[in-house]
Amino acid sequence: MMKRYITPHFQMPNIDLHSHSTISDGVLSPSRLLAHAASRGVNVLALTDHDDVAGLNEASQSAQQENIILIRGVEISVTWRSRTLHILGLGINPEHPPLAEGLKNIRDGRLDRARAIAAQLDKFGIRGSFEGANAQAGESRLIGRTHFARFLASQGYAKDVKSVFKKYLVKGKPGHVSHVWTSLNEAIDWIRGSGGQAVIAHPARYKLGHNLLEQLLCEFCELGGAGLEVVSSSHTPGETQQFAELAARMELYASCGSDYHGPGESYFDLGRLPALPPVCTPIWNEWNIPGISELSQPS
Ligand code: AMP
Ligand code: MN
Ligand code: MN
Ligand code: MN
Repeated sequence: MMKRYITPHFQMPNIDLHSHSTISDGVLSPSRLLAHAASRGVNVLALTDHDDVAGLNEASQSAQQENIILIRGVEISVTWRSRTLHILGLGINPEHPPLAEGLKNIRDGRLDRARAIAAQLDKFGIRGSFEGANAQAGESRLIGRTHFARFLASQGYAKDVKSVFKKYLVKGKPGHVSHVWTSLNEAIDWIRGSGGQAVIAHPARYKLGHNLLEQLLCEFCELGGAGLEVVSSSHTPGETQQFAELAARMELYASCGSDYHGPGESYFDLGRLPALPPVCTPIWNEWNIPGISELSQPS
């Protein structure tokens, strides 16, 4: 086989454990995502679509063609103490019935929320956003705020997706609807029950403050949570260091992920992540992935 041209990157093997496809709110189909990952020199990729696992079959077929190790993942929307948190499941079995049924319930809840968002935007004089967001969602079984944002941006309500969020979709803005997702307990149970590991995604994004953060981490550990996403496109270098130390102190594994949503919608491209700080124990350390240790040897 022809040796793939490996583009320069920051750690070897090149591991990215958080990404999205058109199955949720990403821009690339699972196979295009894998092709893009290969072009960026990614060796190990987790596909972690929001609240759905429907992309994992296509992704694992493409991963074989692209010579990438695919980690089967999901990003579950959770409500903890009236706040939304995202919990990644890594190494899951997507067919585990409680996981599959739980995710289906979350997607049903998203549909109700979408109707409520559209009704609010309607009152604000923005018509047709439910249909517009649905069209943006395409064949996805899930509707999210990103689909609303893309529709509103396409109609010229703001210059891009980011600005639409700021102006319409975050707390205090006309299209914001508060929503109750699943519990932390259930999300962790589904993940662990399916053979996976639970990881708190982009912890700095929640702005929890010292006490709440400690409480979350204690609860997460008691419930059997495994790791903290230390390197994330949502984190500043200072936050990365802070969460690296926290993970080490709490004896949690550290994970790293770009949270890639597609060209033009992410801060980090795939395969361009800084290395985990040395204090961390990488979550993949104990994964028995064939070929991963060979990748660690410089060739
Ligand atoms: P939802 O789960 O439907 O509430 O949507 C959450 C998703 O919206 C996140 O996963 C991001 O992809 C996107 N998102 C959230 N906040 C922002 C923001 N401020 N700017 C751009 N995208 C955002
Ligand atoms: Mn998203
Ligand atoms: Mn997230
Ligand atoms: Mn994500």
